[in-house]
Amino acid sequence: MYVYADNAATTSLSPKALEAMMPYFTETYGNASSLHSPGQRAAEALQAAREAVAAAINADFKEIYFTGGGSEADNQAIISGAMAGARKGKKHIISTAFEHHAVLHTLNKLEKEGFEVTLLPVHENGVVTVEDVAAAIRPDTALVTIMFVNNEIGTIQPIAEIAALCHEKGVLMHTDAVQAVGHIPVDVQALGVDMLSMAAHKFHGPKGVGALYARRGVPLVNVIEGGQQERGKRGGTENIPGIVGMAAAIGEATADLPAHMAYVTGLREKLIEGLSKIPHSRLNGDRDKRVPGTVNFCFEGIEGEGLLLWLDQKGVAASSGSACTSGSLDPSHVLLALGIPHEIAHGSLRLSIDVLNTPEEIDHILKVVPEVVDYLRAMSPVWDELERGLTPHLI
Ligand SMILES: *Cc1c(COP(=O)(O)O)cnc(C)c1O
Repeated sequence: MYVYADNAATTSLSPKALEAMMPYFTETYGNASSLHSPGQRAAEALQAAREAVAAAINADFKEIYFTGGGSEADNQAIISGAMAGARKGKKHIISTAFEHHAVLHTLNKLEKEGFEVTLLPVHENGVVTVEDVAAAIRPDTALVTIMFVNNEIGTIQPIAEIAALCHEKGVLMHTDAVQAVGHIPVDVQALGVDMLSMAAHKFHGPKGVGALYARRGVPLVNVIEGGQQERGKRGGTENIPGIVGMAAAIGEATADLPAHMAYVTGLREKLIEGLSKIPHSRLNGDRDKRVPGTVNFCFEGIEGEGLLLWLDQKGVAASSGSACTSGSLDPSHVLLALGIPHEIAHGSLRLSIDVLNTPEEIDHILKVVPEVVDYLRAMSPVWDELERGLTPHLI
């Protein structure tokens, strides 16, 4: 048995989404900007997809801008918020220490261009508080950007409350909802955010396509200059097959959401219960304020990298946290932001399951993870020192 438990990194393409996409590679290949009928058929598909994506998050179709993925949507939202503020002399941005790198690196760039960035600390439970945001807002704050669901630990942030506070203070609010859309209810009216990012490949759509929701009146700045596509806010011939696939996937992911959430939550509870039995382990992030499918554990005395390679051998695809940092030896910035010591953050494991996983697969994970942890600990000099009492256990 081989279990794919890395859905927070990417998901498989849904067969229905693939089927919806196919004609747009072959028969309906027109450029949506062309006046002839093949072009107009592409333009109609684009419009239908825009309406479907808008409907899934309770937005108007005119508020949806298709992008080349979640990272691009994050870049465009943050740069737009920054520039809108700068025009009014506001050059302060608030975010958190555990955002995705698409957010953190965009903020770094803006800092070099004279913006001031406050990264809020994240509490040990992996949840940002409204009070912390309130305390950080200044008269010159242009933008608050806080993720909806953290991609490494799965915790859900109080976005509606933060957005309400921002509006009281006249500050724009963006949320990176890439891990939320298709996994928990996302309603832009109920949330009250000004901008929201999503990526198709995180909910069984194709890779390389995403969308930015921008409330009417929010002034967007282009990150890709070009033609008049996307109401002039994102140049480049539209990726019609990808956009059609995204629309099909978002429809499928949100259609039976309560039932899907209940099913995945049940599997996740089994996972947490089983993995918690491993001695000197801890669940990272709040026990309950979490997305159905993502769990993140630390196991003392082992290296995340070794764990992942062995799990792969034993038939489990998992992650040590962010796919973007694997390959570097630094522990996850997310776990460090939670205040987890370096030596523990190194032994982290993220399992992200979804509606395609079966109870038998969870049993398989719960069989092999304890075996591999035991095996690695038996060879670990760090574990040996812990067991002999030369260094104190931290978990
Ligand atoms: C995956 C992810 C992104 C990046 O999306 P891409 O489509 O891969 O560019 C951004 N933010 C979060 C929270 C993510 O999980």
